[in-house]
Amino acid sequence: MKILFFGPNGSGKGTQGAIIKDKFGIPHIETGVIFRDNISRGTELGKKAKGYIDRGELVPDEITIPMILSRLKEDDCKNGWLLDGFPRNLAQAKALYEALNKEGITLDIVIEILLDRQIAKNRIMGRRLCVNDNNHPNNIFIDAIKPNGDKCRVCGGDLKTRDDDQDEEAIDQRHNIYYDDKTGTMAAINFFKEISAKNGGVPKIISVDGTPGVKEVTADLLSKLEA
Ligand code: AMP
Repeated sequence: MKILFFGPNGSGKGTQGAIIKDKFGIPHIETGVIFRDNISRGTELGKKAKGYIDRGELVPDEITIPMILSRLKEDDCKNGWLLDGFPRNLAQAKALYEALNKEGITLDIVIEILLDRQIAKNRIMGRRLCVNDNNHPNNIFIDAIKPNGDKCRVCGGDLKTRDDDQDEEAIDQRHNIYYDDKTGTMAAINFFKEISAKNGGVPKIISVDGTPGVKEVTADLLSKLEA
């Protein structure tokens, strides 16, 4: 199963991605994770990418496109993959589609999580991390998981914020790219929707409303995947 996974920063894509990956037993390939791993290992790729990432800009296509296309050729991708964070613009979408065509590989599914831009931003900026366990959900802007005063709602532990969650400029910059339907990520999604329409519904397009809580979004996503 070859799947593309779209959703703005703050839409819960990480959580849902892990569920899809387990369902199909395919590797979850996240461009952001690959870049961050290279930065922490101090590789040449990491050095080139760091400045762009710190500013919330895209790493140039000349670096990103070959990196992902070669990752998709690794052994663990033989039975499929879940690609998350790529393509992020129209040029990357076209490059991916051409590369897959060349190899005779069919893209099966394109998933998009729909979320209003302001809600996405609040979710990022409202996120609070429990010092005892990062998985304890706390968000000052989401009623269902509001902290207990300034303490973790699960265990009462102290809460802190993640630096990049509070960098409003970088969040806006990332969302500018995501919601851009001329050349940005929305344009990439529309590109695949047009292909699907011309191609008898292949790839299958699945749109999920990301506004409700994590459990509801998962249920909706799984039912659409099984339909
Ligand atoms: P993410 O973890 O997906 O939010 O990605 C973190 C950062 O990595 C982004 O803000 C970009 O700077 C960079 N990045 C991730 N995916 C791509 C991509 N497909 N093309 C260019 N840059 C990317």
